[in-house]
Amino acid sequence: MSEKKVVTRFAPSPTGFPHLGTAMYALLNYIYARQNDGEVIMRSEDTDPVRSKKEYEEAIKEGLAWIGIKSDTFYRQSERTDIYKRYIAKMVEEKTAYISRETNEEGVTRDVVRFKNPNKVITFHDMARGDISVDTTDLKDFVIARDLESPLYHLTAVVDDYEMGVTHIIRGEDGLANTPRQILIQEAIGAERPIYAHYPFVLMSNRQKMGKRNGAISLQDYIKQGYLPEAIVNFIILLVWHPKNDRELFTLTDLIAEFELERIGKSGAILDEKKLDWLNREYLKKLPPEEIEKNILEWLPKEPLNMKDPRLVPMIFERISKWSDVTTMAIAGEFDFFFKAPKIEKTKLIYKDTIPEKIKENINLAIETLQKIDENNFILENIKNNLMFIADNLPSRGEGRGSFLHPIRYALSGRDKSPDPFTIAGILGKNETISRLQKAVEME
Ligand code: GLU
Repeated sequence: MSEKKVVTRFAPSPTGFPHLGTAMYALLNYIYARQNDGEVIMRSEDTDPVRSKKEYEEAIKEGLAWIGIKSDTFYRQSERTDIYKRYIAKMVEEKTAYISRETNEEGVTRDVVRFKNPNKVITFHDMARGDISVDTTDLKDFVIARDLESPLYHLTAVVDDYEMGVTHIIRGEDGLANTPRQILIQEAIGAERPIYAHYPFVLMSNRQKMGKRNGAISLQDYIKQGYLPEAIVNFIILLVWHPKNDRELFTLTDLIAEFELERIGKSGAILDEKKLDWLNREYLKKLPPEEIEKNILEWLPKEPLNMKDPRLVPMIFERISKWSDVTTMAIAGEFDFFFKAPKIEKTKLIYKDTIPEKIKENINLAIETLQKIDENNFILENIKNNLMFIADNLPSRGEGRGSFLHPIRYALSGRDKSPDPFTIAGILGKNETISRLQKAVEME
């Protein structure tokens, strides 16, 4: 006899844009199915006609496709009402459910369908949490359909899991509270109990559960900010799984080989954006140079200054963790000095307590040295070799290299912090570099 095929599902309600929680839900089900040569289903739980929107369903599919996840099979619950109605009729006939004429808070009288609770203790096994026992008496005869046409979540989920042959239910820990009711319904319709695994909540930095009503960042926003999908996948998985060997970098392919569902933790992990940025930079570093250049040029603004200059690329790449950092830094004016001479303050040329005359002397020394480099050889390496030779051989007056290199760097950039003077000079070229240094010496 062959073993039953593993079937997992992620069943988001299309009531908002997908966030990291949605991605986690899909990712764990996807990985587990792939690890077991199984099938992964996406089920759009759109039975709430007021809150469900096609646009959100599309956004969920799009966000998940971006991180590399596509289901093998797709269902939409709103198209399956006949199936649910059949089950309701059968349950009423078999007396595991009954119709109850009730008036709701708005004064509308309807035939709701209630589940006939057998009031018993249910024990179920959770892959991550072990055995859990619940006395179902407290759940009373809960409602499974608002009227004969409007089945509710517990019923639709159980019917679908059964009809779709779902073998493993991998979902967030909020699902734990639903499991006893769902097991009761399974038993009533004669469905086999699937295997459960509930993973912990992802907590936002304010320790609240991640949710769309809670300011969670959507996957679409991560795309807009220029994160790499590999980093998002890697980040999500480390929120619930601690690999035995403390390794940190895992691609989706690595995860299919190595992830262990039975070892997911019980307590919620707090979102650490610095960690995500670190991971993203690790994946940026793996990109081919052409792609890095292409992206940086794309993210550099064209206005008011056209900054799309390939010479800036290596310097910018050193300083970013995601593509949007390029634009942020550019807009903050951090690269303006490459395109127009900065305004400089005389006092800021001075390094520590070096006397102004000495500073002037040092800048002149730099000008003299740079003049000797041929325009065609005016590149970072040559500039650096020449200037460092002087910096290292200055008659020692206790100021060190700083009294030579700082004024050059500041005269070229006009900024308290900037790349080193050799990099800047290499990009500015011989004429512009010397002209800026000259202006600094001539300042009164
Ligand atoms: N539609 C439910 C949700 O979005 C699915 C819960 C489940 O996996 O059963 O949370």
